[in-house]
Amino acid sequence: MNDVLIRSLLEPIIDPDFDRPLGAIGALSKVEVEGDHVRVYLELVQPLHTVARRLDLACTSAIHANYPEATVEVLVRETGLPTKTAPALAGVKNLIAVASGKGGVGKSTMAANLAVALAQTGAHVGLLDADVYGPSQPTMFGLAAEGMRAEKTDDGKLVGYPNESFGVKIASLGFVMQRDQAAILRGPMLAGYFSTLVDQIQWGELDYLVFDLPPGTGDIQLTLTQRIPLTGAVVITTPQEIALADVRRSIQMFRKVNVNVLGVVENMSYFIPPDMPEKRYHIFGKGGGAAVASEYDVPFLGEVPIDVRIREGGDGGFPFVLDADRMDLGDAFRAIASRVVSEVRKANASTSQQTVQITL
Ligand code: ADP
Repeated sequence: MNDVLIRSLLEPIIDPDFDRPLGAIGALSKVEVEGDHVRVYLELVQPLHTVARRLDLACTSAIHANYPEATVEVLVRETGLPTKTAPALAGVKNLIAVASGKGGVGKSTMAANLAVALAQTGAHVGLLDADVYGPSQPTMFGLAAEGMRAEKTDDGKLVGYPNESFGVKIASLGFVMQRDQAAILRGPMLAGYFSTLVDQIQWGELDYLVFDLPPGTGDIQLTLTQRIPLTGAVVITTPQEIALADVRRSIQMFRKVNVNVLGVVENMSYFIPPDMPEKRYHIFGKGGGAAVASEYDVPFLGEVPIDVRIREGGDGGFPFVLDADRMDLGDAFRAIASRVVSEVRKANASTSQQTVQITL
């Protein structure tokens, strides 16, 4: 057993997100062999939560298949960290906007469940609810009765802290605005509330900050997307043509401000009657989300059915990905979240080569 032989075993292992061998993407930085002990140094594009464990296992098994007596240690360095960010978001590695061309397509529901699904991978996750027309995250996380957690520092500055529910840190305009106030706010006031959220909240270290944008493609959305250095945007739609026209505008808006579109999620794709599980009704039409994704050459991340438990979860403050009685739906959504993570890694592959040592 020597380092050259071990390298030849590890080089063909595929990074699942890039679909390329570790040897070809420069991920296998060093192999050390001391007697029966093998130390493998990987350099992987962040976020790492799922992929680092998978590749640790794949490397260890490949070595054990040939050298059962070997003890294996896999050390991972993280690359693809952001180079620039707003000062208040300095500890945030990935900023994902969840957007929709129009209201009522389930954008906030998808943002809430994406945040929880990411937290379920072991990541530190925040959710910034900037939906000025109807901040619904406090309700979706059972925090409707909460206010903004804030304190004045010694030098008189106001510092805010996110609330927390189901492992997700949450800041919402709903915590700072009066109920029903949103409808009467005008541009500059909205901008002021938004600045409060972005500049004064202490998020700490986060792997992901999910950013629930207001629906539409107007000035507010444009300003918000430019205000924050986004890793990328996930666009939510329903399948029918009228919603798709808005998705096109949404994708065009992101392209205009050079924001990577991570992909399209189609919500309310079909309905399966609980008493007739063999039937599937396409109430809002079929295949529109996938078609619009292919039209703009962006990934189609998956579809979510219409299900009363999704609505009940939203109203009841319990995101459906946590529902033990609805694991099939949760798993389908976790697959969508894992596609989002893949796209985030691809987006980060082109950014800085700065590295940080991670202990598995
Ligand atoms: P948006 O943020 O796009 O305005 P919401 O996420 O607030 O939309 O969703 C609007 C309503 O539709 C909410 O009551 C929500 O619970 C419900 N809803 C969203 N997606 C689904 C779904 N797939 N099945 C059933 N109800 C849904």
